[in-house]
Amino acid sequence: MGTSKRIHQMTVPQWEKAFPDDDSCKAYLVKHRWPEGIHCPRCGNTEIYELARAFHWQCTACAPGGSTGYRFSVTVGTIFENSNVGLRMWFRVIHRMLVSKKGVSAHQIYREMGFGSYRTAWYMCHRIRVALADENFRKLIGIVEVDETYIGGHNKNRHWNKKTAGVGGLEADKSVVIGAVQRKGNVVARVIENTKTETFEDFVREFVSTDVSLLATDEHSGYRRLSPEYPHHAVRHQAKNYVVGAIHTNTIEGFWSIIKRGVVGTFHKVSRKYLPLYVAEFQFRYNNRENPDIFASAIEGC
Ligand SMILES: [Zn+2]
Repeated sequence: MGTSKRIHQMTVPQWEKAFPDDDSCKAYLVKHRWPEGIHCPRCGNTEIYELARAFHWQCTACAPGGSTGYRFSVTVGTIFENSNVGLRMWFRVIHRMLVSKKGVSAHQIYREMGFGSYRTAWYMCHRIRVALADENFRKLIGIVEVDETYIGGHNKNRHWNKKTAGVGGLEADKSVVIGAVQRKGNVVARVIENTKTETFEDFVREFVSTDVSLLATDEHSGYRRLSPEYPHHAVRHQAKNYVVGAIHTNTIEGFWSIIKRGVVGTFHKVSRKYLPLYVAEFQFRYNNRENPDIFASAIEGC
């Protein structure tokens, strides 16, 4: 696949040094959720008052007349709000998820972190995935590859051959994921309900600029009507001529293989219901593969 260049991420010892206690995590969260200064999460007012209790503030603008005003802490409105788990433990789980290329299962987190219940680890992992999924998006441009793949199925030893899906439908236990990747750029991937032409076209129009220099797909008929709106060329798999110059889908196929290795190797099985969140997690890691401060980017989304 494309870039396998190793980026320098915070190692575990570096992480331990940067975040020795809950307060250092809270200070970090203040800095990253309010880079322009602390403001009221309810009304946006910046004239807030610091309370005696650390990392707690008060806003009187949105609670006029009251003697106490609106009081808030650093975690209000974040995924860490009202959690019995300390912020440092949350940060530790996030760091663990980000440094693991194939992902890390809730079972692993449960065992490594010594939580009282598996349920806690499971809940935390899912909240973090929700945070990673919420990203600002810009349409892809340049050379873009679009492809679809099938993930799931109860027989985990089965070969991942997307051509087994049959015509016009898919096996009941498999989910379809469609993705677009800008070469040397970002990937967008979504779980889709069906493989209808309209579904493929809606995805491409939502995420891919018509100003691309090339839109490369496989020969699936669902992409056929995108010409001439897009400079579209299909890879001729059947001609055993997979790569004709720039017309290939190797980059997106590389992304699929990372997801599949994760789903098979780490998570073993992912339910249809939660697949979009796993896809979002892999998308986030891929899109931040050259970001030396991926941890900060993740915290900003929490
Ligand atoms: Zn307020």
